[in-house]
Amino acid sequence: MKTHVRALVIGGGVVGCSVAYHLTKLGWSEVALCERKELTAGSSWHAAGLFHALNGDVAMSRLQAYTLRLYPELEKLSGQSIGLHYTGGLNVAATQERWDLLRSDAARHKVTGIDSELVSPAEVARRCPLMDVGDVHGALYDPMEGYLDPYSATMAYAKAARAQGAEIYRHTRVTGLEPTGRGSWRVSTDGGAIEAEHVVNAAGLWAREVGRMVGIHLPLVPMEHHYLITEDLPELKSMKTELPLVVDLDGEMYMRPEHKGLLLGVYENDATPWSLNGTSWDFGDNELLAPKLERLTDALERGFRRFPALNRIGIRKIVNGPFTFTPDGNPLVGPVPGVPNYWSACGVMAGFAQGGGVGLTLAQWMVDGEPDGDVYGLDVARYGAYATPAYVAEKAAEFYARRFRIAYPNEFWPAARPMRTSAIYDRLADENAVFGVSYGLEVPLYFAPSDTPPVEQPTLRRSNAFPSVAAECRAARSTVAAFDASSFGKFEVSGAGAQSALDRLLAGRMPEIGRMRLTPMLAPSGRLMGDLTTACVAPDRYMIIGSGYLQAWLLRWFDAHIDHGRVRIRNVTEDIGAVARAGPRSRELLAQLVHEDVGAEAFPFMSHREMDVGLAPARVLRLSFTGELGFEIYVAAQYLRAVYVRIRNIGQSLGLVSIGNYALNSLRLEKCFGLWSREFSRDYTAGICGLSRFVAYEKPDFVGRDAALRERESRPTRRLVTLQVDAHDAEASYYEPIWDGETLAGFITSGGYGHCCGASLAMGYVASSAAVPGAELAVTVLGDRRACRILGEPPIDPTGSRMRT
Ligand SMILES: Cc1cc2nc3c(=O)[nH]c(=O)nc-3n(C[C@H](O)[C@H](O)[C@H](O)COP(=O)(O)OP(=O)(O)OC[C@H]3O[C@@H](n4cnc5c(N)ncnc54)[C@H](O)[C@@H]3O)c2cc1C
Repeated sequence: MKTHVRALVIGGGVVGCSVAYHLTKLGWSEVALCERKELTAGSSWHAAGLFHALNGDVAMSRLQAYTLRLYPELEKLSGQSIGLHYTGGLNVAATQERWDLLRSDAARHKVTGIDSELVSPAEVARRCPLMDVGDVHGALYDPMEGYLDPYSATMAYAKAARAQGAEIYRHTRVTGLEPTGRGSWRVSTDGGAIEAEHVVNAAGLWAREVGRMVGIHLPLVPMEHHYLITEDLPELKSMKTELPLVVDLDGEMYMRPEHKGLLLGVYENDATPWSLNGTSWDFGDNELLAPKLERLTDALERGFRRFPALNRIGIRKIVNGPFTFTPDGNPLVGPVPGVPNYWSACGVMAGFAQGGGVGLTLAQWMVDGEPDGDVYGLDVARYGAYATPAYVAEKAAEFYARRFRIAYPNEFWPAARPMRTSAIYDRLADENAVFGVSYGLEVPLYFAPSDTPPVEQPTLRRSNAFPSVAAECRAARSTVAAFDASSFGKFEVSGAGAQSALDRLLAGRMPEIGRMRLTPMLAPSGRLMGDLTTACVAPDRYMIIGSGYLQAWLLRWFDAHIDHGRVRIRNVTEDIGAVARAGPRSRELLAQLVHEDVGAEAFPFMSHREMDVGLAPARVLRLSFTGELGFEIYVAAQYLRAVYVRIRNIGQSLGLVSIGNYALNSLRLEKCFGLWSREFSRDYTAGICGLSRFVAYEKPDFVGRDAALRERESRPTRRLVTLQVDAHDAEASYYEPIWDGETLAGFITSGGYGHCCGASLAMGYVASSAAVPGAELAVTVLGDRRACRILGEPPIDPTGSRMRT
């Protein structure tokens, strides 16, 4: 065994072997992998081996598509057959709603480059004659789906990694990790010690234990999962071609051929978490769990109805094995915040559909310093301290139970809620708020009429929230509206080096005392890392405001790029609450709450002041995300309730209404303001998303400057545009294709109804050649093409005078 390596991967399941393969493929030498038993000894050996690209999350879908395409190359490189069967896969819809969703997915695949096709019930029956298609509306067929032999696929990654120089130590358990003080790790194993510059936790079922070795809790939990294998079916013996893989989404089961029988897996509605308090080191020598067939009765009945032939044959084998789930079902990938050179590649619930992409993503991150594109949806830093083991157990069980349920864009699942609430949560609930959740925090979506229950019906179309949101938007543009902004992420940056550190971290110019600036934050590649509001409070003190759900993600970046000797960064999000007010009467309202002059001259746009609001010491920021005159009041969280009550009382006579996230989205779309994770993300650069006007190219040094300068010299190939869509009962939402005739011209990043301009709006990226104001294009909404037109200016207040008055 070596005594020093550049990277040590802990875990020889499919994910760890893929990471080792990709690290060596991208050029790293001195890569080793430790496996406590035999390769695959965790979840990998007993997987059903299916792989498919369908995933509601675009980043995951792309990652899965990469994994599927990798297998032939892997077989070739390793010389290891992996039992690859590209049978094609049918993702079946048995309800109209599901069919609408599959039609949307098929359209999105045109953007992500997945070659899928919609097929009729008759075609489903032709391709899979064993299925009862009586209730089937159709299916999404992907020729690249299929199955493989999990053991051989893991071996193939390992062999290919070895061929590229990696060393694999079997029967070598990592027992401890200690920082050396040189940025590397002293790794203790039961076969000796190794110094590793980087360690990767790919320990699957034991990832929590390997997390605890460095004092962290990883938000994942294993769940029991069953599949069964039938005896041979006579009709399959005479079939010349193999059956396709079938995912019966509404029946919550999957099926694939297994020799001349079937393999049927089910996601029961009552999930069974496994080893909640940790996985024993003794588990896992090709060990399975006792089947719990009594829990599967409903699911199996559905399976027998879908595949009636099952009634005629016996079951040959039942497998019950554990594998890990996270609260949202996506993996946990990337550098673990606060633990330098400790990387996560765990929480992967579909290692054979996702393992290749997870390996590639992590390897790019480690080798190049950043991943290629926006991978926030699988980033380990998308969770914060709120994701306690108890929270994770509830949410992961909920995810398992709803694995194939439709994830409606307007639905927030109920488990582990409410958990985090702002100081005015009860007040908002009294006002009949309907809440969603962001980073574990309850956030108001809209306010239901007082005579109806505060419940939004999950739908892909316009929901029952529509009239309420319309009223909220109208109030924000005509009188004054209040919004609980406690969820905003807030950071205090202080110390003698604060100004110079931020000047280097942020691409924009730094504000003067009492002023604010919007500034992009870039990665060295020029990709966006944030769109932040920076307020200068004192020469050595700044306040930074960003999206609340990015707290851990932003802090990890700040930590990596700021010299902590001279600068202190504090996440004050939970300490400070905020109420935002917008609307033409918002100044009048503020004037009645404070003693200061808040007129346009004394308190201009993009400035901030300390002042007492009601009884509370506060900092008031004058900015606007709605395009209207707007103020945000920041107070220590204990004052928020009193401030809010006073605002409500005084605001009554001015026509004050409470608004939620939905109204904010509509209002910002009418102003063509982009939003993080939608128009702005690591998929884009400042040049193409229109943020270059906030980049201070003249600054001598900032992260991403070289790339930004290079980009300035070239003409962007894509541009961000706002579209008016001829939509009837549903808006464009995310990643739908934009068509210029029959040519794919771009894709949607977000959409919503503009309640004040009376039109369905969307934002998206289109090829620069097509980005012409007034150009007539089309966008696919829920599977149907809708005409749309590029807007030359914001439909509301194009000059931006209202927010500056
Ligand atoms: C019944 C069932 C059916 C499934 N079907 C499918 C399917 O059809 N398609 C699909 O894509 N996925 C499927 N899965 C999920 C799939 O098995 C997992 O996603 C995948 O195996 C996860 O791989 P991994 O490498 O992350 O973890 P694991 O396979 O658990 O590997 C982790 C490895 O790390 C080793 N290890 C842990 N701690 C240490 C240590 N301290 N030192 C050294 N080594 C250590 C372990 O021994 C183990 O070999 C199924 C799972 C089950 C249970």
